[in-house]
Amino acid sequence: MKTIDFSLEASYSNDSSYFMKDTLKTTATINIAHLGVVYRTQEALRDINCIIQPGRLTGIFGPNGAGKSTLMKAMLGLVPLNSGTVLYQGKPLMQQRSKVAYVPQRSQIDWTYPATVWDVVMMGRVKKTGWLRSFSAVSRQLTKNALERVGMIEYAERPIGQLSGGQQQRVFLARALVQQADIFCFDEPLVGIDQKTQAVIFEVFQELTAAGKIVLVVNHDLGESITHFDDLILLNCELIATGSRQQVLTEQNLHRAYSGKVMYYSDAA
Ligand code: ADP
Ligand code: MG
Repeated sequence: MKTIDFSLEASYSNDSSYFMKDTLKTTATINIAHLGVVYRTQEALRDINCIIQPGRLTGIFGPNGAGKSTLMKAMLGLVPLNSGTVLYQGKPLMQQRSKVAYVPQRSQIDWTYPATVWDVVMMGRVKKTGWLRSFSAVSRQLTKNALERVGMIEYAERPIGQLSGGQQQRVFLARALVQQADIFCFDEPLVGIDQKTQAVIFEVFQELTAAGKIVLVVNHDLGESITHFDDLILLNCELIATGSRQQVLTEQNLHRAYSGKVMYYSDAA
């Protein structure tokens, strides 16, 4: 199986030990304390407290309008906090945005933007290195590796708007990979995609967590895919529960989050 090259050196080396050398040496966590968000008059999140661990696939779950996207955006400083703090390695996460790769919900992306698959992934490097250095040989190699990893290299010259939903999601996954981030945030990456894309996405998440990265994924599907997650944050404006999948997926928690109306994969925990 192909793995991802996270380090610059790795793009010039076939030595797979480079892959592990880039793993995080500290057990860096994200600590969310008393986080609240208010949109105009509507309270979207109230007093959220949780810890996100590296090396574990963490899902943010809850019904429509529960505040899942808001939590991710608030963590990254994309919507203002009404209260609380979000720390990474003890410092405000929003001051460390270069360590984060964020893929928003597909519905929030302008798919008419006239860019090729290759350009969309290379633009991930601009954020990492700035314009001047972003078109280096290293960036090109990382872009090629990432597109190969997600099975999209043969589409490199296609306009992004011409792809299927699943293909677009894989391109954005590649764009996240080239950023060589420590923290990966995906908002609803599993919506409107095919089986092959779902398999690729979970394989890559597995590689990222195995390399000690923080991988945070908004999802709302309580079907079989939930079994891929190690830890869950279950929301409905308030924090309903957080911890391991087994701890969170109790009938009582699900009924509290979904107001009693819930169908879920019965072996999920
Ligand atoms: P989820 O991602 O769980 O579906 P969101 O975080 O998108 O939920 O939204 C949480 C609540 O905040 C919803 O009631 C939504 O209508 C509201 N909301 C989200 N974004 C905005 C905004 N920009 N302005 C006002 N209200 C918003
Ligand atoms: Mg959302």
